[in-house]
Amino acid sequence: MMSGIKEGIYMSRKEIEAIKERRFRSIIRYAFWRCPFYRKKFKEAGIDVDKIRKVEDIEKLPFTTKQDLRNAYPLKMCCVPKEEVVRIQMSGGTTGQPVIIPYTRKDVEQWKEMMLRAFYLAEITSKDVIQITPAFGLWNGGFGFHFAADAINAFVIPIGPGNTRNQLRFMRDFGTTVLCATASYPLRLAEVAQEMGIDVKSLSLQKMLLGAEPWSDEMRKRIEEIFEVRTYDIPGLTEMGGVGTVGFECPERNGLHMWEDNYIVEIIDPETGEVVDDGKEGEVVYTSLNREAMPLIRYRSGEVSAIAYRDKCECGIEHMTMKRIKGRTDDMIIYKGVKFYPSDVEEILASYGVVHYKIEVGNGIRIVFEGDESLIPAIERDIKEFLGFKPKLVAVPFGSLERFEGKAKRLVRLDEVI
Ligand SMILES: [Zn+2]
Repeated sequence: MMSGIKEGIYMSRKEIEAIKERRFRSIIRYAFWRCPFYRKKFKEAGIDVDKIRKVEDIEKLPFTTKQDLRNAYPLKMCCVPKEEVVRIQMSGGTTGQPVIIPYTRKDVEQWKEMMLRAFYLAEITSKDVIQITPAFGLWNGGFGFHFAADAINAFVIPIGPGNTRNQLRFMRDFGTTVLCATASYPLRLAEVAQEMGIDVKSLSLQKMLLGAEPWSDEMRKRIEEIFEVRTYDIPGLTEMGGVGTVGFECPERNGLHMWEDNYIVEIIDPETGEVVDDGKEGEVVYTSLNREAMPLIRYRSGEVSAIAYRDKCECGIEHMTMKRIKGRTDDMIIYKGVKFYPSDVEEILASYGVVHYKIEVGNGIRIVFEGDESLIPAIERDIKEFLGFKPKLVAVPFGSLERFEGKAKRLVRLDEVI
């Protein structure tokens, strides 16, 4: 394994603070001098970069938004000459201008290094057979896992998404031990395995690295029971360099440890833009501290979470701890003054063994789930008690809802009367 991985994970608070401050100061100046977008943005905000010295000064700086990145298409925010770019990836959203993230060689190395921290914590080694189900293409998933899996000389199956029967056949025939996937994919695998007469517990699978969408603790319990594996939550977004870059789940499951030597993480009130107190929920804002081709300053990710704590964790890691990502600001549902996310509903449904569902939001809320009608009163009671509203609940037979091989679409907004 690459040197420095363990050292990076277990840096002391003092080391983290020192490197964070040094890199922060330098990235602000780098962005200002190399990127006309930031030069203009800082000037418009009346920022004198020479006066930005301490990490706390970050709150004076303006935000970068997804719209800014769209406007920058194709490479207007790139800080290096084109010949230094070694690849691009693309970030979500199917409408409008694509969001393109360029990488230098060093950026690809940084991606790999952060992913190797995840592999280290999950104890993934050259003996593992790693099946990578996210796509190999412009979306970042496949390559992120691949770079690290390749670097440790593991047995890599770069199968990409889809063809679930084939995925299972490969798992069985090659003895896959580690599955990399979106969080909803294991459920689909379990279902198809049953159709094929494969007992998933008899597979060699030991670990799953799951991400790309929010998944509740209850959903985790279900997946771990069905497959008899250990699951790990892996955050990361293309804008920050891809899957696995920003942090990884604590081995004690206390939350996500965010790699503060590489990223500054802030939580803001999405309406006012003010930084909120630790423990309070808000939108996650990232600053990449050592990316070369397109570092982003105070990027509004749309992810919703909260800082859990900043003290040393019982697992020995001193990087800050953020709660697992609960949802995206776009997915927030406001109903009769109550705010909640699809994952809040999932948590309740999964506690009754319900894993396939959709939430329809119109002038009312209808939750359609696969399961027995007799569950309705209990689910209704829990939603009323924990979330504070009363939805319409509809039970449908198993197999009636749409299945997903990538990110699941569970929230449907409708114009109709519910
Ligand atoms: Zn920890």
